[in-house]
Amino acid sequence: MLNTNTRIYLSSPHMSGAEQKYVNQAFDTNWVAPLGKNVDAFETDLKNYLDPKVYVTALSSGTAAIHLGLLLLDVKAGDEVLCQSLTFTASANPILYLKAIPVFIDSEPDTWNMCPIALEKAIIDRIQLGKKPKAIVTVHLYGNPYKVNAIRIIAEKYQIPILEDAAEALGSSYKGQKCGTFGDLSVLSFNGNKIITTSGGGALISHTEKERTKAIFLATQARDNAIHYEHSELGYNYRLSNICASIGRGQMEVLDEHVALRRDMNAFYKKLFQDIPGVYVHDMPSEDYFSNHWLTAITINPNQSNGITATDLRLAFEADNIESRPLWKPLHLQPLYQEYPYYGNTVAQDLFDIGLCLPSGSNLTDPERKRIKNVVKDLFKIKKKIASKPVVVRKNRLLDFNSFAKLFLGVHFKTT
Ligand SMILES: *Cc1c(COP(=O)(O)O)cnc(C)c1O
Repeated sequence: MLNTNTRIYLSSPHMSGAEQKYVNQAFDTNWVAPLGKNVDAFETDLKNYLDPKVYVTALSSGTAAIHLGLLLLDVKAGDEVLCQSLTFTASANPILYLKAIPVFIDSEPDTWNMCPIALEKAIIDRIQLGKKPKAIVTVHLYGNPYKVNAIRIIAEKYQIPILEDAAEALGSSYKGQKCGTFGDLSVLSFNGNKIITTSGGGALISHTEKERTKAIFLATQARDNAIHYEHSELGYNYRLSNICASIGRGQMEVLDEHVALRRDMNAFYKKLFQDIPGVYVHDMPSEDYFSNHWLTAITINPNQSNGITATDLRLAFEADNIESRPLWKPLHLQPLYQEYPYYGNTVAQDLFDIGLCLPSGSNLTDPERKRIKNVVKDLFKIKKKIASKPVVVRKNRLLDFNSFAKLFLGVHFKTT
């Protein structure tokens, strides 16, 4: 039977109302081009939001920002680049654009991001094999900050720069510092499904003016200083358009509000699932981690949930025209990437097997939440009314970090 309910999406654009004003401004001044006042102003807004000390270059996509970031880190054909495996393919694709070699790293179970132990093992091993990795691509998956300090200590120990993929993490922070400022270079995305959108767009964050100048040079076809068009380097057409930047300006006015609404969705799911055995609503291990909860993800352990799986829940949602989606399939398991080296255990794979991303938009209405709630209640047959108890964080992760580390150290990691 055809379901006539309107579709509830995982994450859809949420306009503030001010976007139109800035777009009109761009039209009125005829700056309908990949440069203009709104590009400058959007960059300034981002800079002020993240940290006035950083430099922001607005680009046509997050993927373009990763590509330029790798170029600025001097990644060349044949170089090796370490990359979190549990992520969207765009984190790694630019490594292949450059004919460099991705080396994938497993996740740890606390934040689901790059495991510091597997990272160090990979670095030691690659160096022993004769090639020191050129860069580390870290990811704040679903807006959840990775173990920033642990990863940074390892990067500094081996003097390998970090390219921080904060595409999903604008508005998140770690120990009070904003995600998007932790890498030697960092990347944001403003694609249609992200925490804020410019319809399509991205940014490269750097710590020197020189890097920004170089990024703009490469993003505008690498034109040398001459009256005619003179080129001695390969360039790209990667700048953000002034129209898109106009939308971005309007979105910046509601960013914090959207973060609060997404976090409220996470609290909604914690409450919804708190009495359902086997379901863990992913959240951060401590107060140090502030997530924008771009997407709320859960795991369902069928051994504890009467055999109900993440797939069962996804199909039940789909029958009510509600979108949910498996976690990113780990890149080392993708046909495109499976020939490349991988360091780790099966944390990313285990999460993929039992995980699910739930509708998390900042614009979900009360009736939509009710539909979500009803699907969950029906599937898990909750008899008693979902009580208005205080929210508790469930601790039924697959493994806690310490036992994971012990297992990992014992089985896979040789200490010298
Ligand atoms: C969205 C996303 C990107 C790519 O950003 P685009 O703007 O879509 O090119 C890169 N990495 C991650 C983790 C993302 O979620």
